[in-house]
Amino acid sequence: MSRRKKIYEGKAKILYEGPEAGTLIAHFKDDATAFNNQKRGQIEGKGVLNNRISEFLMTRIEAIGIPTHFIKRLNMREQLVRKVEIIPLEMVCRNVAAGTICKRLGLKEGEKLPRPIIEYYLKDDELGDPLVSEDHISAFGWAAPQEMDDMIAMTFRVNDFLSGMFGAIGIQLIDFKLEFGRQFEGEMMRVILADEISPDSCRFWDVQSKRKLDKDRFRQDLGDVPEAYAEIARRLGVLKDRPDLKVVAMENEP
Ligand code: ADP
Ligand code: UDP
Repeated sequence: MSRRKKIYEGKAKILYEGPEAGTLIAHFKDDATAFNNQKRGQIEGKGVLNNRISEFLMTRIEAIGIPTHFIKRLNMREQLVRKVEIIPLEMVCRNVAAGTICKRLGLKEGEKLPRPIIEYYLKDDELGDPLVSEDHISAFGWAAPQEMDDMIAMTFRVNDFLSGMFGAIGIQLIDFKLEFGRQFEGEMMRVILADEISPDSCRFWDVQSKRKLDKDRFRQDLGDVPEAYAEIARRLGVLKDRPDLKVVAMENEP
């Protein structure tokens, strides 16, 4: 059996060299980390669910005309993607106050923001992914002004699209993080959506009960973590061919 070349192992995924030039295989692990790696654990079945959820969301986003790295799912935990040069920024879009913005700006969790807000964080684990401004980004050359314009426009479109899609299945999209990368094809370069979109990178609340259905259950030791990920997959309808994956009915507490 030929051994694949491992390119990178991160906190949640392993990247292998893909079968063709310009491709990679992303392998989704069950490992979970939070608070800049200080909290570590495993969420049983997370890799399988995030592979499916991200496939579904990337495919839908591609269908509305936003280019993504997703090519096809290979198996339970792996997908083939276009290799990109990751732009070292996390584009966080928020609709409702939760997480770090609450402490930073003295907001109450659950407070609706005046309008969707985008924040930029520098992808640098050693520095703990600091919040940066657009002027930092252009001065240090992390992204060109045109790339920023494109990423901002795509992030707002993804927010509108996903807010509607999740609203229709009784889930409120509180916030999420996107990563983008540069794809090179000959002389051409374009910025496309990369990485993953999953309950690891989004906050999802049940509209009725306000129950958290995302990684905050792990961050805050709320329990039923795999069940929350499975509930997202179930509501999106992405596990129809896997009746063996149990979805435990969740009780109505936060
Ligand atoms: P982290 O690096 O934060 O621990 P992961 O474990 O999810 O996160 O690792 C996946 C890594 O792969 C991330 O650094 C991400 O930026 C990068 N990545 C995601 N999609 C692509 C892609 N299409 N091409 C190249 N790198 C990618
Ligand atoms: N997020 C992420 N990766 C990070 C930091 C944040 O996917 O390294 C996501 C997080 O899941 C949430 C949003 O971005 O949906 C905003 O996160 P926040 O700044 O509140 O930080 P956190 O509470 O995740 O530390």
